[in-house]
Parts: sequence; structure tokens; C-alpha cells
Amino acid sequence: MPFISTRGAEAVSAPEAIVRGIAPDGGLYAPVSLPRLERADFELISKMDYPARAAYTLSLLLDGFSREELLEMAKAAYARFDTPKVAPISELKDRTYVLELFHGPTLAFKDMALQFLPRLLTASAKKQGEQREIAILTATSGDTGKAALEGFQDVPGTSVTVFYPLGGVSAVQEKQMVTSRGKNVHVVAVKGNFDDAQTGVKTLFGAPEFIQKMNEQGKTLSSANSINLGRLAPQVAYYLSACADLLAQGKIDWETGLNVCVPTGNFGNILAAWYAKRMGAPIRKLICASNRNDVLTDFIRTGIYDRQRPFHKTISPSMDILISSNLERFLLELADGDTNQVSTWMKELKETGKYEITNAQKALLKEVFFGGCSDDEKTEETIRRYWNEEHYLLDPHTAVAASVARDFRQETGDASPLLIVSTASPYKFAADVAASIGVTVQGDAFDAGKALEDATGVKAPKAITELKTMPVLHTRVCEKEKMGEAVLAGFANDN
Ligand SMILES: *Cc1c(COP(=O)(O)O)cnc(C)c1O
Repeated sequence: MPFISTRGAEAVSAPEAIVRGIAPDGGLYAPVSLPRLERADFELISKMDYPARAAYTLSLLLDGFSREELLEMAKAAYARFDTPKVAPISELKDRTYVLELFHGPTLAFKDMALQFLPRLLTASAKKQGEQREIAILTATSGDTGKAALEGFQDVPGTSVTVFYPLGGVSAVQEKQMVTSRGKNVHVVAVKGNFDDAQTGVKTLFGAPEFIQKMNEQGKTLSSANSINLGRLAPQVAYYLSACADLLAQGKIDWETGLNVCVPTGNFGNILAAWYAKRMGAPIRKLICASNRNDVLTDFIRTGIYDRQRPFHKTISPSMDILISSNLERFLLELADGDTNQVSTWMKELKETGKYEITNAQKALLKEVFFGGCSDDEKTEETIRRYWNEEHYLLDPHTAVAASVARDFRQETGDASPLLIVSTASPYKFAADVAASIGVTVQGDAFDAGKALEDATGVKAPKAITELKTMPVLHTRVCEKEKMGEAVLAGFANDN
């Protein structure tokens, strides 16, 4: 199945799209068509273990890989998760289910894809006859960074450089990154916000001089950001998996399905849900939940995407985003495959900070999505409510989703089964979670985990409890205009 650039560049195979990360015209690789699953396929999926579900999904989505090859990768990718179910579902009251995507090594949903991507990427490079080292450059709003560092750590033939906004990630997220081990890993703080860091990385991918310098060092660039097809494809698997489980357990009907609510930033996770829906998963509405950075809420409600607004730092930092890159793939669907239209919108976004879709497209957008947002106060209240009423601990990102899902049910009266996608362990954001449920923490953010554990009896993962005493290995800071120099300086230090 070929993949075309959302901005019109010629179609390529999956391995090529994965190696490139971004298309030469700056667009994202999107599938030309999607396979369609039937009810019997979901029965089949429900009988598989998680790695087999992932291999099955990827064999449908990606050309150029055998099912056996994908199964080997999937087994290795999910071996470090703390439950054999990998993506288990917790049942709450009112036909509400929580899909827990935080059981990987860095305690956030990014692991679902970033434990898989290095395997897809090195296999793809081999298939493409690529001899050069694959240099991963990535910008992170918090969780991608650590997940990429873990995923690529000491993977032969790769290196990884992670940029994060200085002061724009939580203390725990920062400590997780700057303590990363591995001969091939680099971490740099950028003086700017996440959008600055992401724009900086995108600029480097299109900077001939920088690319030339990398080539001279025997390196080729690739991205581990959520725009990479190799990130997106493994995410589709957990939606098929969740639907298969809920169908098999009789919790949802094939005909009436369920609503899915996703805490959204870069639009990668919810886009995977959309692909799952297109592939026949019984998903009704996709509820797009934002924090106070509500650019997507407004887009879904008005059809105008306008990034010209204040950037807010919130207690759900991985969603503090004003340019949701992966939305571009959905725009291609809205434009009915018209890549010129998508290019025009992206040009307008770059030059004027906004674009507007047509009335027919607005109607289609609203048919698929419901958009809502939750500010920090409402999010904290939601964490408190779920703890008091259900004895279930939500992290702030998941709580944004739970809060918006509640608004959705109230606003629409739609009481169908609801799947809340949980994207992080509450222990990754223990200080804010503790504060929300009235637990006093003695000490700093790193002591919060212990306090939360003592107060709730919910077990803290080891990856958090050992963080406080781990040595800092990365201390570099750079200006947002100097990210290219920072990459090259990192490699110079290696030698
Ligand atoms: C990355 C992230 C999100 C946002 O996911 P997108 O795919 O960027 O929309 C939400 N929650 C957490 C915890 C994350 O790490």
C-alpha cells in the first residue's frame, strides 16, 4: 500500500516513508487507502495476545514487511511492559472504560509506538539499502523525549538527539530525560516553548547546509516525532485491540459501538483512532479533549484553525501545543485527497497563523469529532472526583479527557459506552495528582510519588521512585535559532 505526502509528493512504500519521517515537500505520509475489517476479524483479534494484535494491525497497514517479521518486532517492543496485556482496560461505572496506555518503561502512551519505532526504522533502512547512521532528531513537549531516548538507547546504527523547551516540561519529565543513559543519546534544552522546538526541528529537516554536514559525517536524518508513519501505525493497534476486547466481553454492541475520548496535543493518538474507525472499528464519535490550549476545540466548533492565541503552560504539559502536526493527515481526508488544498492551508497557517475550511468540510468535521477543553481547575476537580467516587487515580492528561467526556455526555445526552484513553501513569505527574486529591507532599516533586503511594495504596512504579537519586548526564542548553549547531556539537563531543 503506497503512502502519499499530504502535500502532493509522489507515493512511496512504507519502509521508505518510515526512513524519511517527513516527505520532501514538508508533508506527512498518509495511506492512499485503508483495509476494511468485519466483525469476524475483531473476534479473531480478541483471541490473540497483544504482540500478535499489533503485528496483525501493522501487516494490514504497512507494505514491505512480513507478518512474521512484524511479530518478532512486536514481541520485543512490548516485552518491557509491566503487564502482559500491554494495553489493559479498567472498567468504571456508567459504562465508562479506561484504556491504559501507560504500562511501558517511561509510563506514558508514547512507549506504545516508540518501543516499536526503532525496530521498524532499522528494518526499513536495511530494506532501503541505507548504509548511513540514522540520526533521530526530535522535539518533545515532555513524554516523547524520554520515550525516544529509551527506545533508541544503544540501538546499533542510530543516534538520537532530543530537544525540550527549557522550563516547559515537568520536573519529573526533565529528570527522566537528563538522566538518560546510552552511548548514542543526546538531550538539549531549548530556550523557547514546544512549538519553537518543533519548528526548529522541522526547519533542520529542510535545511540543505545542515543536511550536507550530516551527510559528510555519514549520517542521515529521521524523525521520531509523531508525524512518522512508524509512530502512527502501532497506535492503530490498541484501538482495534480495545474494541475487540469490549466486543468479546459483550460490553459494547457491534451495531451501536462506543464513543472514544482522547487527550489530545499533536493529534497523533486521536488520528490513530480515526484510522481504526475507518478500518471498521465500531467507534461512534471521536471526542477530542484539549487543555486550556484549545485551538482544536475551536477548530472543530468553527472550522477555523487559528494558532494566534496565547500559549498556556498547564498541568498537562504534553498537550501544551498550538500547532497539532498530525491534523494535516485528517485535513487530507477533509479535502477529499486534494493535496493542493492541504498545501494551501499549511501555507496560510505558516504565513498568517490561520486557515478556514469550507462549510461542507465543517459539517463533516463535526460529524466525526466532538471538541472540548478543560482548564487546570476543572482537571484537578476531575482527578478528585474519580478518586473519591471510583477510587481510580487519573493523571492530569487523562483527567482532561475524563472532564471533556463528562461535558460531552451532558451536552449531547449520548450515554453510549465510553472509552477514555489514558495516556500517562498518575505517578508521572505525582505532585499535581497528590495536590488534586488533598495529599500533602513533604519535599519536592520526586517525593510526591511516595506520598501519593502512602495516601492511596496505589503502587508507584520503580521508574519513578528511583529517579530522585539518579545522576544528571545531560546539561546542554541552546538558543532556538541554534539547534543545528547543537546537534553537530553533540556529535563532536562523541568523537
Ligand atoms: C503526547 C501525549 C499526549 C498527546 O498525544 P498526541 O498524540 O500528541 O495528541 C497526551 N497525553 C500524554 C501523557 C502524552 O504524552
